[in-house]
Amino acid sequence: MVKIMVVEDEQALALLLKYNLEKEGYEVVIESNGLKVVAEVEQHCPSLILLDWMLPKMSGVEICKIIRTKPDIKNIPIIMLTAKGQEEDKIKGLTAGADDYVTKPFSVPELMARVKTNLRRAPEISTKKELVYEDIKMDLLEKKVFRGENYIHLGPTEFRLLKLLMSEPKKVFSREVLLKTVWGDNIYVESRTVDVHIRRLRRALNEFGTDYIRTVRATGYSMDSSQENTEE
Ligand code: CA
Repeated sequence: MVKIMVVEDEQALALLLKYNLEKEGYEVVIESNGLKVVAEVEQHCPSLILLDWMLPKMSGVEICKIIRTKPDIKNIPIIMLTAKGQEEDKIKGLTAGADDYVTKPFSVPELMARVKTNLRRAPEISTKKELVYEDIKMDLLEKKVFRGENYIHLGPTEFRLLKLLMSEPKKVFSREVLLKTVWGDNIYVESRTVDVHIRRLRRALNEFGTDYIRTVRATGYSMDSSQENTEE
């Protein structure tokens, strides 16, 4: 079940949100204490956070900034809820790392639509603690990879590559997508670099088992144990 955290100190509003989100089939966790939010997010790993701006002790903006610095929870979409309607505040909220911004009073159907949109945009992988494919296991919190009982040492780039491939097994990722996701938009690297790192990743993984990385000619790579690998 998709879990949503509602951070709201006005109890009536928190309950209204809970009621409507549950009606849509989401699991809801409510938190009203600003100081506890980050720890609660780390514990529950929600798929999305509805975050009130004005909270006692710690503001939504501060909480948002902290969440965005924590590798394991920083990709969770955050929708900021606020009574402030100023353009300047909106910018402040978005620069703090919020994905979206909804001004109170809001219409419930509109908020539900925003929740859906932001969930769709979010990478599924962000809230998972572990990825498993066949005998390969990735511990995303401790950043460790195992094949069966064997620990596989991977460099950071190989780790990110594997994480992406394992996030959607059998999906073919083009070199361009791999470059963009693993290396980022701002760094210039040749697409051949992808091949070099895939080769390293294969070498590390295949020490303890069959090659599950499939090379799709002229396209890219996928994680697929059902295909016989004929290349490399
Ligand atoms: Ca409030």
